[in-house]
Amino acid sequence: MSLIVQKFGGSSVKDAQRIRNVAGIIAETYLEGNDVLVVLSAQGDTTDDLIAKAEEINPHASKREMDMLLSTGEQISVALCAMALESMGLPCISLAAWQVGIHSTSVHSDARIRKIDTERIQAELDQHRIVIVTGFQGVDRSGDVTTLGRGGSDTSAVALAAAFRASLCQIYTDVDGVYTTDPRIVSNARKLEEITYDEMLELASQGAQVLHNRSVELAKKFRVNLEVVSSLERKPGTKVKEVTKVEKTNIAGVAKDTSIARVALVGLQHNPGVAFQVFDLLSKHNINVDVILQSIGREDTKDITFTIHKKDLEEAEDVLNEHKDALRFDHIEADEHIGKVSIVGAGLMSNCGVAAKMFEALYEAGINIQMINTSEIRVSVLLDEEDVNRAVKAIHAKFFDET
Ligand code: ASP
Ligand code: MG
Repeated sequence: MSLIVQKFGGSSVKDAQRIRNVAGIIAETYLEGNDVLVVLSAQGDTTDDLIAKAEEINPHASKREMDMLLSTGEQISVALCAMALESMGLPCISLAAWQVGIHSTSVHSDARIRKIDTERIQAELDQHRIVIVTGFQGVDRSGDVTTLGRGGSDTSAVALAAAFRASLCQIYTDVDGVYTTDPRIVSNARKLEEITYDEMLELASQGAQVLHNRSVELAKKFRVNLEVVSSLERKPGTKVKEVTKVEKTNIAGVAKDTSIARVALVGLQHNPGVAFQVFDLLSKHNINVDVILQSIGREDTKDITFTIHKKDLEEAEDVLNEHKDALRFDHIEADEHIGKVSIVGAGLMSNCGVAAKMFEALYEAGINIQMINTSEIRVSVLLDEEDVNRAVKAIHAKFFDET
């Protein structure tokens, strides 16, 4: 008998009808003779609605209380799903992450899973119950509820699949797989049959919102057999794995991210240790930095430019300004109206000319590049936010229409 983890996203459980549909998928898997461990997101826009509710009361609510609030969304879903399965006469039990023992760090709103206790779930599975667990959350050392960051239910599912050595971890969503780019922007985007962990990781961290990026990191680390499938249509999804059949095209996809802001520290001293001080300070405030560029300024000074998430901009500016005397920069320039477009492909670095092809597409579309950043399997460019969709279209056409 094999254990299958099935995770359903918010749109897949948004109302009673969808919950019954999900219960049907779970029931089928269970009745085929599998152990089933289900992970659910909050229904539809519940998490956003809860955030809005909090803002009405206190726009500066503490992250601990926000987690206390947001974690309720998933608790609703698991209870309702269990009720649907009960009504079908199937043995099941819903559990919140703290009941399972999904232990996490204490970084409220962005906690990481440290370890998962297997006893409770195993005991339930041994009773042949379907176990339904709240995604997106954990419990820290003081017993407080934490959340894993927006979209974090995918990570809960993969972590559980790893802890229980599940034979398969299915991520059910309202799209039927991973596409070469966002089909809402490019109508002829293609669905990928399979994609490597590394490609998926780059796509996820570059803004493709199919999977939470930490879930892909975990899947790679523990070799979790991962699959993205539709909960609404029965058709094959996209398999995420270590190696894939080599495709004719040498990139897997084009991703965009408009949730970033650019910060430039102008007129820093040109001394050793300056970059260390700046980024150490930001990391102590849990501010993730992405693209970094250092350039020579005037009269023995230098500028350091980097990108962060828009939500961190205010805090980053505050923190840097507080340490202005120690860091000795002249001033900060911040720009929220930027975006990043990336191409990702496992074969990218062994195929010279791929980056040039991307730049050619941007040139032909008359789009100016502000910064460029690469990894072994990715090339990213920073652009004006208003050019982003046009850039995605031009680049996608260059790689997928001209072959
Ligand atoms: N409900 C949470 C969110 O909306 C977590 C998730 O759906 O994965 O971000
Ligand atoms: Mg999601």
